[in-house]
Amino acid sequence: MDSQPFLARRHRLLQHMQQQGGGLALIPTAAEQTRNRDTCFPYRPDSYFHYLTGFDEPEAVLLLIAADNDNPSQSILFCRDKDVEREIWDGHRWGPQAAADHFAFDAACSIAQFDEKLAELLADQPALWFSLGHDAAWDARISQALNAVRAQARHGRRAPTQLHDVRATLDEMRLIKDASEIALMRRAAEITAGAHRRAMRATRPGLHEYAVEAELLHEFRRHGCQAPAYGSIVAGGANACILHYINNDQLLRDGELLLIDAGGELDGYAADITRTLPVNGKFTPAQAAIYQLVLAAQQAAIDAIRPGADFNTPHEAAVRVLAQGMLDLRLLNGSLDGVLESGAYKRFYMHRTSHWLGRDVHDAGDYKHGENWRPLEPGMVLTVEPGCYIRAADDVPAAFHDIGVRIEDDALVTAQGCELITQAAPKTIAAIESLMAEARHG
Ligand code: MG
Ligand code: ZN
Repeated sequence: MDSQPFLARRHRLLQHMQQQGGGLALIPTAAEQTRNRDTCFPYRPDSYFHYLTGFDEPEAVLLLIAADNDNPSQSILFCRDKDVEREIWDGHRWGPQAAADHFAFDAACSIAQFDEKLAELLADQPALWFSLGHDAAWDARISQALNAVRAQARHGRRAPTQLHDVRATLDEMRLIKDASEIALMRRAAEITAGAHRRAMRATRPGLHEYAVEAELLHEFRRHGCQAPAYGSIVAGGANACILHYINNDQLLRDGELLLIDAGGELDGYAADITRTLPVNGKFTPAQAAIYQLVLAAQQAAIDAIRPGADFNTPHEAAVRVLAQGMLDLRLLNGSLDGVLESGAYKRFYMHRTSHWLGRDVHDAGDYKHGENWRPLEPGMVLTVEPGCYIRAADDVPAAFHDIGVRIEDDALVTAQGCELITQAAPKTIAAIESLMAEARHG
């Protein structure tokens, strides 16, 4: 593993802390979660911790101490000790010594010494940088350490008087992806696009939704993704109108659409792609009409992504196209300005068009600065995912009943505009139909 990008991120955080008056930052990794009795869920490190360390064992904490007049800055890892007996059962542990060398920390200590050392290191620091309220056990541990320092007041030791939420700083850093992050996100996107192609080839009437989900998982895993980045949505027919459908246990029927929203996670980074395809390989005219509308809305949103445009501009562009299309197809009545004003379009398009994407599928970073949507900047990654969901109803033409379409790509903001990193997943009606026909006859 290349420790350079992680080292650079720690230095940036330390510099920021120093500019804000210094102090000590504490970033613990995630705890293991019990699945049942003595079995745990597959382990995933905390996104902030992993962003700064690249270290993926549980029971670890990163401590950063900003430089002051007398001392240089320090980054210290606390982790599990080497344990030959446990390693026979559970696998390799770095241990502090090797971890410090390999991951380029200034020092590393046993996690068993953490509470004692924390009280020592906190003494006389001006500020504590920590995400209070994220984990009750950690909050209690920190309070205890602060009280241990306060108990030393008569020996002249002082506890920090300021508390900063370290997440606020890290969120801003994480929002602008560095070169190594962009490389990982490109690869996660490429693998995910391949998984969608595989799912398109496999789809046919009579399969269950989970059989198509299995094709996705197969492709994620065989290219090195550790897991899906979020619960895969494989929704046939009317299920596509359930926005967070994850049961994936129904039969796929001739004449219906299949909506697949799934992405792989690679070394901590998510992809997030949605494609909608006809189960039998051929869109009906009504399905095609809705599909083309959503595709046009997505293109309008993509065209609106450029540095300086605010975060909401792509959403507004997509909504405008969708609302006009709903009027043209007689799903809505009235004027464009009227349905935009009243929000009548929300009956068929009730979610937003974009979210930040990165380590978390809904990634860190503010969407507004004060009252205003923040401007887009090169290095940000956002999804573009308009949709149209039409439930059966008396006032809707029957041909449109149970049609749910969403089309989602991942956009990297560049100096000129944006680059879609998920393009390898077929998207036009012609491309989807020809891939599906080829899989059937080829
Ligand atoms: Mg998605
Ligand atoms: Zn998404």
